[in-house]
Amino acid sequence: MKRSILWFKTDLRLNDNETLIRAIEKSDVIVPVYCFDDYHFSETEFGFKKTGSFRAKFLLESLGNLDKNLRKNGSGLIILKGKPEVEIPKVAREFACSKVYCKKEVGSEEKAKEKLVEENLWKQKCELETFSTSTLYYATDLPFSIKDIPDVFTTFRKKTEKETNIRNIVESPDSIPSPHIPELVLPSLKDLGLSEPKYDKRSVLNFIGGEDEAINRLNYYFKESKLILNYKQTRNELVGGDYSSKFSAWLANGCLSPRKIYHELKLFEAQYQSNESTYWMIFELLWRDYFRFMMKKHQNKFFLRQGIKLQANQEIEVDNKKLNQWINGETGVDFIDANMLELKHTGFMSNRGRQNVASYFCHDLNLDWRIGASYFEQQLIDYDVCSNWGNWAYIAGVGNDPREKRVFSIDKQSKEYDSKNIYRNLWLTQN
Ligand code: FAD
Repeated sequence: MKRSILWFKTDLRLNDNETLIRAIEKSDVIVPVYCFDDYHFSETEFGFKKTGSFRAKFLLESLGNLDKNLRKNGSGLIILKGKPEVEIPKVAREFACSKVYCKKEVGSEEKAKEKLVEENLWKQKCELETFSTSTLYYATDLPFSIKDIPDVFTTFRKKTEKETNIRNIVESPDSIPSPHIPELVLPSLKDLGLSEPKYDKRSVLNFIGGEDEAINRLNYYFKESKLILNYKQTRNELVGGDYSSKFSAWLANGCLSPRKIYHELKLFEAQYQSNESTYWMIFELLWRDYFRFMMKKHQNKFFLRQGIKLQANQEIEVDNKKLNQWINGETGVDFIDANMLELKHTGFMSNRGRQNVASYFCHDLNLDWRIGASYFEQQLIDYDVCSNWGNWAYIAGVGNDPREKRVFSIDKQSKEYDSKNIYRNLWLTQN
């Protein structure tokens, strides 16, 4: 009897989940687990929580939905809390498992954790096998080895698009052979040291976690509304649910795979129309892939002040007054304040907003970019280690931007993207 643990992490879905399918193929019995890692609920060196309320709530919803879908397949989800390197081997002993299947990590902290789990499992003759399940392109299909991936996005994109195919998705399983899994017991936000976030009616969307909601959103954005046909023109807007896909939170938790989006888009194009906008969704997903591959290539450099550049720039003193004004939307620069209030009250901010507040933080306030990135890590509902730190490093001028320094003119940007003050009025004058 081959018994295996399926350790879910940021891959909370049944569809297009290679880890799940391989585990089923090679095992007689599967024990699905998720571990609330205490570390994910601790504080960073900059004094922010690693996970804030908006993302934690979304995560709890995603796990509830995953358990429901696992049960439809004859299984269920066991929730653990503590250190994965202790808790996972414990479950392996309890169920006499000889193998653990999980998603392969990219971030340096996550990789270190994976290694610890593997070492402890090994001591009890249990093996760990990992699968990369969060990118559009398989790293092994790329026309470069990881260390040779160009540090300029356009060079990477052009060669990859020309020479590499995107693989098909892996279908959801029909059934999952499991022992009896007791009813799901999720911790409350309070158990995680967090408070219930208040829903703000100005939010772009009422984000609800889980694979089912992810598929609903995908269907809405493509087939039902056909908003995708104008995506390239609307993606820089600031107000409401429709200007961009809002797939990010589901992608970050792995409730949705980028390959699923790609193949749904191809079906849409075959049935309705393909245009610059439908392509642009793939273009943006390629950026997401790119930051993942860059993290694989440069590893923990993305968390250092000098980023992937060779020379360290000057150490910057922490200025708590400026920092708090930025966080609380009290800088006096209305476009920055409106965006920061949106982030504070909803856990979301548009891409245009993120670029502006990050540029303002690094180049106008002259603060250490890693502090801003760390606040985003706490606050964002769609926080993703590679996309967040990769984008922040890019804007700070220590990442993948081929230009030395890209400073946004906040005044010009606000006139261009909020010419009628609609966004600023929403956040600065209404409650
Ligand atoms: P859409 O415009 O609909 O794009 C579709 C998808 O493409 C997104 O869901 C996302 O997965 C991907 N994408 C789009 N733009 C980017 C980009 N610049 N980099 C990487 N992927 C992209 N995105 C995150 O998912 N998590 C983060 O933690 C994160 N932090 C960011 C920090 C900064 C400073 C900046 C400038 C950008 C950050 N982004 C992050 C990228 C981007 O802002 C969000 O992905 C996007 O705003 C989410 O909204 P959407 O899903 O409607 O995007």
